[in-house]
Amino acid sequence: MVFASSQRSAEVLAALPGPFQDRVFIDGEWLAPKSGGSQVLVSQFDGRPVGKAPASGPADMDAAVLAARHAFERGNWSRRSFAERAQVLAAIAAQLRQHQQLAGDLWTAQVAAPVGFANYLIGQAAEVFDYYAGLGASMDQPELHTFATGGTARVWREPMGVAAIITPWNAPLILLCYSAAAALLAGCSVVSKPSPESPLDGLLLAHCAQLAGLPPGVLNVVPGDAVAGEHLVRHPEVNKISFTGSTAAGQRVGMLAAERVARCTLELGGKSAAILLDDADLDAALKHIVPMSMPFSGQICFALTRILVPHSRAGEILEAYTDAVRALQVGDPWDPQTQVGPVVSARQQQRIQGYIQAGKASGARVVLGGGAVDAYPHGFFVQPTVFADVPEDASIAQEEIFGPVVCVQGYEDDADAIRIANSTPYGLNGAVFSADVERGLRMVREVRTGSSGLNLFDVRPEVPTGGFGQSGIGRVGGLEGLRAFQEPKSVYLPR
Ligand code: NAD
Repeated sequence: MVFASSQRSAEVLAALPGPFQDRVFIDGEWLAPKSGGSQVLVSQFDGRPVGKAPASGPADMDAAVLAARHAFERGNWSRRSFAERAQVLAAIAAQLRQHQQLAGDLWTAQVAAPVGFANYLIGQAAEVFDYYAGLGASMDQPELHTFATGGTARVWREPMGVAAIITPWNAPLILLCYSAAAALLAGCSVVSKPSPESPLDGLLLAHCAQLAGLPPGVLNVVPGDAVAGEHLVRHPEVNKISFTGSTAAGQRVGMLAAERVARCTLELGGKSAAILLDDADLDAALKHIVPMSMPFSGQICFALTRILVPHSRAGEILEAYTDAVRALQVGDPWDPQTQVGPVVSARQQQRIQGYIQAGKASGARVVLGGGAVDAYPHGFFVQPTVFADVPEDASIAQEEIFGPVVCVQGYEDDADAIRIANSTPYGLNGAVFSADVERGLRMVREVRTGSSGLNLFDVRPEVPTGGFGQSGIGRVGGLEGLRAFQEPKSVYLPR
């Protein structure tokens, strides 16, 4: 069957329920960007234009921050009870559910997320709002401390103020929802800056929030590039920055935030390892490892891009894993059978090819792939690529590639596996596979990473997510995700 990929993407963008292609959302209104900025979106499958999107500049950031500040100081959102705010969050979740199919399609139309992958995950956007709505429903009890020596103190959790939420292109709606739902429950006003590659999902969230009755100015959405983002980060009226993106950009954002002691959460890159222990059930393990080693062409921060295997079983595991990757269907992201589509841009395609060349030059062995996909010469495709015999200090073993490239690395014993797993600057995700749950858990405890799966892979809104080392500072999700937008304020009460 032939899928007219760019045509399908263009149809999705043309049928959007609001003026998202040329308006930004500030103070409850749909406005043309002050900078007059606009950009053309192209299909990653064939390079054809599929629609357009607004591109905000510094003046739009200023207007959005002003609206957010005004709403925070003069509006009543920050003064409502948690339970009242939770009701609006639940209404936003309901709207996101009503728009779920569109949200999944937008993911495919803008950045070529395979439609099966997008449909499987997109429900998390509403789930996150539901989770924080549930948390907020019972948060209004005062936090009291009674001292053995006499006396009491009370702690309030105040909203930090205006929160700038800067998100990457790869999972735009879900990542925005993780931070926005927590910020809104805390009572903050939000300025969301989606990335230029996937600018429209934030505007869809704004549409849902407006339908749900969120007051004007509490959520403002201004898609823009890094220059606009930096203007937002530097803005003196922004109290909190929640940044999700690359480690390099996160370092810059963290430095700028530190200059004025703005609060800052950084959710950054990863180089996560799946460790197969010598007793692992290989077939069962591969059911989780194969889809999560190259999800969305490896463009997911959590991807398990290093597979650590005991020398005693290296040949058997490498062969089975390579066979499974060879069987992945590469093709049109709109085809429900497609498991690996194009990568986000020609620039990213070249960057990945650069890593593959560097891997070969390091002495690592290409077991599978390594080239372009001949069937799609106009698309930004990279063959699913598996390397073995990888030197531990090779760039392909140390750096985040963000493409369908995986290193299979051998280890001596459990201690050696932990040493290799901990040998990169990152620490975002991981997985351990073992027939012995206690042994697997002991291994998980030794790997310095923010989250892990034992014999599986999972991510849930209830559970804090984030990184050790250069994978970031702070957490999204769970109670920690809410605390990231709150300032504790303590009062010692008269005896
Ligand atoms: P990126 O760092 O290039 O951009 C991320 C966002 O930051 C974009 O909106 C961009 O416009 C903005 N930006 C870039 N430089 C900025 C600056 N100096 N000041 C302010 N804003 C700036 O990342 P990307 O290519 O969009 O996304 C891929 C990266 O994101 C990967 O490294 C991936 O691992 C990471 N990521 C991390 C998580 C996580 O939860 N830890 C989740 C998804 C993606």
